[in-house]
Amino acid sequence: MSDPPVDPAILDENQCVAVDLPCQHCGYNLRTLALRGRCPECGTAVAESARDTRLCRADPRWVTTLADSALLLLTALSVGMFWLWLLGMLVLAFQQPGLDTACVMGPILLCALVAAAALIGLTAPEPRQARSARGPWARRIVRSLLVATVVLTVGPAIALDRTPTLAAWGWAAAGVIAVALVPGATLRHLGDLMRRVPRPDLARRCRICLWLLLGALLSYLIPVALIPINPRFPRLLFPLCGLPSVLALFALVALGFVTLLSIRHALAKAAHEASEYARERASGRRQGREAGCGRA
Ligand SMILES: [Zn+2]
Repeated sequence: MSDPPVDPAILDENQCVAVDLPCQHCGYNLRTLALRGRCPECGTAVAESARDTRLCRADPRWVTTLADSALLLLTALSVGMFWLWLLGMLVLAFQQPGLDTACVMGPILLCALVAAAALIGLTAPEPRQARSARGPWARRIVRSLLVATVVLTVGPAIALDRTPTLAAWGWAAAGVIAVALVPGATLRHLGDLMRRVPRPDLARRCRICLWLLLGALLSYLIPVALIPINPRFPRLLFPLCGLPSVLALFALVALGFVTLLSIRHALAKAAHEASEYARERASGRRQGREAGCGRA
């Protein structure tokens, strides 16, 4: 597929930029510059910054991968949460439900692996990289954090016999990355994608989820961080911080689930529109070629 079209609404009759348009590389205002020219600050082609970056104009196979990955992530999270809820019910009903570790952890590990595969799909690089104005740093960070989680989970398991303390620290770090940093970076990345649908309302909801995640973590971590100072602090602070933490977590799960459902729907719609658009452009080009051949 060739480059996406330049939005004609931002050009004047001389094919110069008629609106405030930041260079995608350095942010320089490209207003009044010719579309064929280059940014005077960094040399990036003006046309690259003027491209239509909506997902419905992107490579349809890539947008379809995003939509399918969102569905996979939704499925993995739903099954994982259902399993946790079922475990909670079993413990409440039977006190000791007689489940061994493999039985408890197996489904959770499987859901985590499926969710990781879904995240790899959701952060797949765009075939013809259209750098959005904010830059796709969140996408790369999600991938780096996934690699770090795997290294910090597998590494300590190998070195467990020799350095058990170091292994425990490694697993703790992997846990923090998997529970806090990966969801945070993913929410940021999904917000970036939603701005390109464009669905600013969903981008805003991703930002709210990010704040809820931060709030839940901080209100949990503050009492824990105070243990070395005075062991009595957590007992005093947990009722104050613990309740907001639990409430923020519940709100995050509820809002996050509904938002991911809407994101999946928006991506599927964008994938359909991108396929239609690619087909129209292909048939338009074919007709153009056939007309050209007729004249020759
Ligand atoms: Zn520039």
